[in-house]
Amino acid sequence: MDSVKILRLGAAMGLLLCSCAGQVPADPGDIATRARRIHHNVLTLDTHVDIPVDFASDSVDPGLRGRYRVDLPKMEQGGLDAVFWIVYVRQTRERDAAANAAHTAAMVKFDAIHRVTEELYPEQIELAYTADDVARIHAAGKKVAAIGIENGFVIGRDLTLIDRYHALGARYITLAHGGHNDICDSATPRAWDDSTAEHGGVSPFGAQVIAAMNRVGIMVDVSHISRQSMLDAVRLSQAPVIASHSSVRALADHPRNLDDEQMLALRDNGGVMQTVAFGLYVKVDPPEKGAALQALRTTFGLGPERKLEDLAPPERAEHDTRLATIHNAWPPPNVQDFVDHIDYAVHLIGIDHVGISSDFDGGGGIDGWYDASQTLNVTTELVRRGYTEPQIRKLWGGNLLRVWHETERVAALLQAQTMTETMTQTP
Ligand SMILES: [Zn+2]
Repeated sequence: MDSVKILRLGAAMGLLLCSCAGQVPADPGDIATRARRIHHNVLTLDTHVDIPVDFASDSVDPGLRGRYRVDLPKMEQGGLDAVFWIVYVRQTRERDAAANAAHTAAMVKFDAIHRVTEELYPEQIELAYTADDVARIHAAGKKVAAIGIENGFVIGRDLTLIDRYHALGARYITLAHGGHNDICDSATPRAWDDSTAEHGGVSPFGAQVIAAMNRVGIMVDVSHISRQSMLDAVRLSQAPVIASHSSVRALADHPRNLDDEQMLALRDNGGVMQTVAFGLYVKVDPPEKGAALQALRTTFGLGPERKLEDLAPPERAEHDTRLATIHNAWPPPNVQDFVDHIDYAVHLIGIDHVGISSDFDGGGGIDGWYDASQTLNVTTELVRRGYTEPQIRKLWGGNLLRVWHETERVAALLQAQTMTETMTQTP
């Protein structure tokens, strides 16, 4: 389909928002009751939750209600059953020299996640190594942790690290983050990148990385990578891909979101996009709001040299009052805005290819789904729009688990093939 047709189709889909299949319960009390029941019945899985570097230490104890948006008490309160905790490493300008540092940084987070599930709270949460583990752990009444690596930069040029990270529990790798790396181009190049595209998509080394991920059984995550990289990854991967935290570009024109053509390619590949509740990707602020926020910063002399915390109490109070006025005039994104993205995606690519993610503690969180304790609000909005329990089950993790299973199946096939080849080559 050409891009004009795709745009027209996208526009037509936009008209269909809020008209999902299923009976729309009209009574708010009825909606709340149904939502609570469905939320309890389905397994709720969030594919993107960041953790700080001091996670699982005295300063950040995930077993206590703390300042971060996800911890065990908030998961319990919000009925959030499973999270992918993220081993994130920052991209740097230097690559070869930074490879060891990136690996060391990744290991700190792997260790922290294992500490939570094996030493600190093994009675409450367990690490899933397989898609079946997720259901088993949930059925045993525990919370489920899984691990995603955010940024293929962690492997440097060493393909053997992919097996190593897999053994530690990594089940998806986001190929790049902000800034290009040796695997592919990023959707958001950094100041040090010489151009908007270094490889023109996935590099030859990146193709080897994807093949190695397919072979070991790690899902290929296309969030954060450039449009062409994403289309290349879909073509190269023998298993369906995921977009672990990306929303709809037709509704919020940000390069981190997926356009209609990308979404259709992901559907045809059997993959799933985990719509993300990250404010900037849910609703792009109008220029007037940006100008008002900038004027406010100028008025109070805020910048790199002077931060909000530096304002004296009366000044801070005045600042906050004016900020609230700006937010009242242009409300920040809320759960309804977020579910508009889910609706759009479901209408364009079908209920089997859409999921949910927060990006909590990595910048995510919107009005109404500010932290894990408010997770029920998402289900309530889905019920209000007429989504049925089987549909909500797919959105809240069923689709993601299908892709995870399929990734395992492809890996088993590829490993069996390699074994056969090795045996026939042996004299
Ligand atoms: Zn991210």
